[in-house]
Amino acid sequence: MARVTDSTSRASDPTANVTHSPTVADPPPVTNAPKRVMLAAPRGYCAGVDRAVVAVERALELYGAPVYVRKEIVHNKHVVDTLRKRGAIFVDDTDEVPQGSRLVFSAHGVSPAVRQAAIDRDLRTIDATCPLVAKVHREAARFAREGLDIVLIGHEGHEEVEGTAGEAPEYVQIVGSPAEVDRVVVRDPSKVVWISQTTLSVDETQETVDRLRERFPALMDPPSDDICYATQNRQVAVKEIARQVDVMMVVGSANSSNSVRLVEVARQAGTPRAYRVDYAEEISDQWLEGAGTVGVTSGASVPENLVRDVVQHLADRGFTTVEEVTTTVEDLSFTLPRELRAARRGVPAAS
Ligand code: SF4
Repeated sequence: MARVTDSTSRASDPTANVTHSPTVADPPPVTNAPKRVMLAAPRGYCAGVDRAVVAVERALELYGAPVYVRKEIVHNKHVVDTLRKRGAIFVDDTDEVPQGSRLVFSAHGVSPAVRQAAIDRDLRTIDATCPLVAKVHREAARFAREGLDIVLIGHEGHEEVEGTAGEAPEYVQIVGSPAEVDRVVVRDPSKVVWISQTTLSVDETQETVDRLRERFPALMDPPSDDICYATQNRQVAVKEIARQVDVMMVVGSANSSNSVRLVEVARQAGTPRAYRVDYAEEISDQWLEGAGTVGVTSGASVPENLVRDVVQHLADRGFTTVEEVTTTVEDLSFTLPRELRAARRGVPAAS
């Protein structure tokens, strides 16, 4: 069992209830040198992911299987596989859902066109869009009504970006990096505003905004940060420990934008040996060669038991001291989607 110390504000035992995977290879010989883990806090589930996952669980409890979910409810393989076993059916689009069935919209949000397609198919929808994504949708719709050209900083093809752009496709241009700013074409350089995907790198987004402002000095800002609190807090925590570790381990799925950003942020902050894994058994012993301190964090869609498995895997290889480094404490939570709140009060759920 790893020994936990807490140099900051909160003590925890991150290795409690650890389960061993039978597929894990025999650990290499343990030396006498003290080895430790620095565990970032905050990490893992954000309020929007928690709400979305609970929404599918409640829908299954209330209505029974199957409950259809458009796209992955959150970008985490383990979460999706677990819900699938409980009766959730994940589909790419509304036309795969039988007429009249229940369909959950994922935390990443959907465009008005998708909402209309669900209505046309007489689907009973539950909207698990994260309220912080919904906020960006409202901004896009408002700026379009005001006739502004909207530069949406984000990754083309990501579900959240598709949903936000779909609020005003004729006004939105997607820009993925500072290098792409040069291809932006606007109708009136004095009427341009930027908004962003919620899960981007804070620093890279600022570079893109700076580049946009060079081209359009009158560029308008959104009224508040679009990169959400959870994304920002996890990046701050990773930066804090990246300077002090030899290797950084980020738990999260390959399609999780905020998890992939954590790997990039760790590398930029001074840990070139930064890796992303879905599960502990994916960690190669070669990655740990010569390391005295390993940093561990997880993306906003990652359940804590997967982090505990990683910490235990490291403990089995001699990293027995765990120090949790807390850069901020989060206490945000969101109420369930209104369709489920109504159903729990006994009111028939709206479609
Ligand atoms: S990462 Fe941010 S925007 Fe995405 S679900 Fe979590 S809180 Fe919402």
